[in-house]
Amino acid sequence: MIRPGKMIKQVIESFFKKPATLMYPYIKEDALKSFRGKMKFHPEICIGCGLCMRDCPSNAINVKKVGDKQFEIEIDLGKCIYCGQCVDSCMKKAIEVTNEFELAVLDRKNLKVTFREKS
Ligand code: SF4
Ligand code: SF4
Repeated sequence: MIRPGKMIKQVIESFFKKPATLMYPYIKEDALKSFRGKMKFHPEICIGCGLCMRDCPSNAINVKKVGDKQFEIEIDLGKCIYCGQCVDSCMKKAIEVTNEFELAVLDRKNLKVTFREKS
């Protein structure tokens, strides 16, 4: 058992120590480069083959044809398990993962993100 005198000394010492935890969200740190966060889509490369949609274990991707050789994909970030399979499956490298991790929203519907070519 810690004696009260020793405990008070430890409490006072802790006031002058740097915190062991990160001051998130006040101080933001980048996630590791290998971290798999929100996907990024390059519609100008996509050929609409649908392999990403077929291989997604969470059924979180939907590929839509929106014009002549133009495609957009919708990813439900609420269903996504951030496995990276869609990135591996895409032969055209049209999908990549970023290390963006702050994806919280108040309404679950907002987790459905459509990636399309900017007009
Ligand atoms: S990271 Fe995995 S779960 Fe998420 S969309 Fe890609 S294949 Fe599906
Ligand atoms: S696998 Fe790649 S090229 Fe094929 S539909 Fe998906 S994003 Fe487009």
